[in-house]
Amino acid sequence: MDGCIFCKIAKGEIASNIVYDGELVIGFRDVNPQAPHHYLIIPKKHIANITDIGEDDLPMLAEMFRAVNSLTEEKGMQARGFRTVMNQGRMAGQTVDHLHLHILGGRVMGWPPG
Ligand code: 5GP
Ligand code: ZN
Repeated sequence: MDGCIFCKIAKGEIASNIVYDGELVIGFRDVNPQAPHHYLIIPKKHIANITDIGEDDLPMLAEMFRAVNSLTEEKGMQARGFRTVMNQGRMAGQTVDHLHLHILGGRVMGWPPG
């Protein structure tokens, strides 16, 4: 989608620190990390929000969670634990309107989230 920063990252038009490159999703380091480990997993195709995910996107979702598994294993995050987050809408703090799953780890997380 024109003007979407994450579409540009997915197409390689904007540089990012890629940590996972799959068929339907990619993972890269968050430019403004909120924890020692902070990665984003996004679909290569433009999907704006959680509520825009369709039945046809189930293979993408499966690959998204395969990416979580392999990346957290590779980064040694599974023994101590990690958090995944998807924000939707302004009250939740969504700032990029292209679906993304945050993976955060490497420090103790508070609950409830702020
Ligand atoms: P949201 O607030 O929408 O849940 O998360 C968007 C995330 O994207 C933020 O954590 C922000 O730091 C990250 N982000 C925004 N623009 C860029 C970018 O150009 N490159 C990378 N690597 N991360 C970005
Ligand atoms: Zn997009």
